[in-house]
Amino acid sequence: RRKHKVTVIGSGNWGTTVAKLVAESTSENPDVFEKDVQMWVYEEKVEVDSKTQNLTEVINSKHENVKYLANIPLPHNIVANPSLVDAVKDSNILIFNLPHEFIGNICRQLKGNILPYARGISCIKGVTVTDDKIELICEYIGEHLEIYCGALSGANIASEIANEMWCETTIAYNTPPCDKRSAANANGVNGDSNGGKSGTAYEEHRDSRGQIIKTPLTPVPQDYPPLDHEEMRLLFQRPYFTVSMVSDVVGVSLGGALKNIVALACGFVEGHGWNMTAKTAVMRRGMLEIIQFAREFYPETVQEKTLWEESAGWGDMIVSCTSARNWRYSKMAVERGVSIQEIERTELNGQKLQGISTSREVSSFLRARGVEDKYPLFKAVEGILDQKVNLDDIPHLFRKA
Ligand code: NAD
Ligand code: 13P
Repeated sequence: RRKHKVTVIGSGNWGTTVAKLVAESTSENPDVFEKDVQMWVYEEKVEVDSKTQNLTEVINSKHENVKYLANIPLPHNIVANPSLVDAVKDSNILIFNLPHEFIGNICRQLKGNILPYARGISCIKGVTVTDDKIELICEYIGEHLEIYCGALSGANIASEIANEMWCETTIAYNTPPCDKRSAANANGVNGDSNGGKSGTAYEEHRDSRGQIIKTPLTPVPQDYPPLDHEEMRLLFQRPYFTVSMVSDVVGVSLGGALKNIVALACGFVEGHGWNMTAKTAVMRRGMLEIIQFAREFYPETVQEKTLWEESAGWGDMIVSCTSARNWRYSKMAVERGVSIQEIERTELNGQKLQGISTSREVSSFLRARGVEDKYPLFKAVEGILDQKVNLDDIPHLFRKA
C-alpha cells in the first residue's frame, strides 16, 4: 500500500516551522506517511562560516534554516529542495506556506506538474484581489490546480511554535465526497463522482460564495490510506500544537487575512503613544469590520461562529495585535518616523509583512464597489500607509454624526 507523501511549499519563518512539525508527525506515523518531507526553498545565497552558500545546502547539511528560523534544530527528514517541480513530484499532500503575493507565480509553475489527486492545505494569510473579484487563497489554489485545498490559520507565532511552546490552530478541510471511504465509494459509486476509481470525477459542490460549481477532481486512489479529518489532524497536531478541525474555509481564511490590517492599525496607535485602551478599540472595531466583510461578500456561507470561537478568529486577532510582526514593525515605523516599507526592507532580513499588501488589495476592492466608507478602520490604515491620514485623526473617523 502507498503512503501519503508531503511537500511544504515555502520555507520562511512559518513555512520552516510547519515543515518541522509535519516532519515530526511523518516520522511518528510511518504506516500513514512517507517519512521524508520535501520543503521547497526559494533559493538564495547565505553567508555561513565565512562562506557564501546556497540556503538549501545549508539547511540539508546543518539541519537549520539559518536565515528564516535560526537556532532551531530541524528534523533530519526535512529535505530542502530548490526545484519546485522536483519538490512536489509524487507528493499527494501539498502544504502552501509562503507570502500571499507569490502564490500566482507558484501556481503557474505547478500547473500540470502535480499529482492530479493531490490535496492542499494553505497556511497563507492573505487574499487574492482584482478590482472585480476577491478570492480566498485556498480557493485560488484549488481553482488553478484543479485540486481540493483547505486552510490552516490560527493564533500562531512561528518562533514560539518552533520552540515548542503550546498553542492552538484551526484547519478548515471539507473532505471531497469522492475521497470518503464509504462502501459506495469503494465500489466507485458516488453519484457524479467516480469514487475510488482512477480518472477524473466531476464533483458538484458549493464554493465559498454558495455557488454550485462542478470541479474536475480526481479521487485519492484506494491504495493510499484514507485522507480525511483524522489524517489531517494526525499530520499537523503535535503535543505543543492543538488542532481544531472545522469546515468553514471562509471564516478561517478571512480571519487570518484581514486581521493583518488590524494589527498594522494597533502598531500605529501604539507607536503614536497610545496604549491598551486604544488598541482594544482598534481590535474591537477591526473584528466588526471583518465580520461585516464576511457578511457582505460571503453571505451564503459565512459562519460567524468561527470568528468568535476559533483560534483563527479572535485568538489570531489578539496575538497579532500584541506580539506579531505586523504589529511590532508598524509600531517601530511610527516610533522612528519612517515608512513601514522602509522598516520591512531594513529590519526584517527578507521576511514579509502581509498587512501592507492586504490593506492595499482590500481597499482597492472596496473602493471599486463604492463601499469603502462602510469600513472606516480598513480605510484609515490605507490612508496612514499613504501618509494621507494623520494618526491624531483616527478618533474622528469613528465619531458618529
Ligand atoms: P517569511 O515572511 O518569514 O519569509 C518570506 C519568504 O518568502 C521566504 O521564505 C523567502 O524565501 C520567500 N520569497 C521571497 N521572494 C520570493 C519569491 N519571489 N517567490 C517565492 N518566495 C519568495 O514567510 P512566512 O512567515 O513563512 O510567511 C508565510 C505565510 O505564513 C504568510 O502568509 C504569513 O502571513 C503566514 N504566517 C506566518 C506566521 C509567522 O509567525 N511567521 C504565522 C502564521 C502565519
Ligand atoms: P505576523 O505575520 O504579523 O507575524 O503574524 C503572524 C500570525 O499570523 C500570528 O497568528
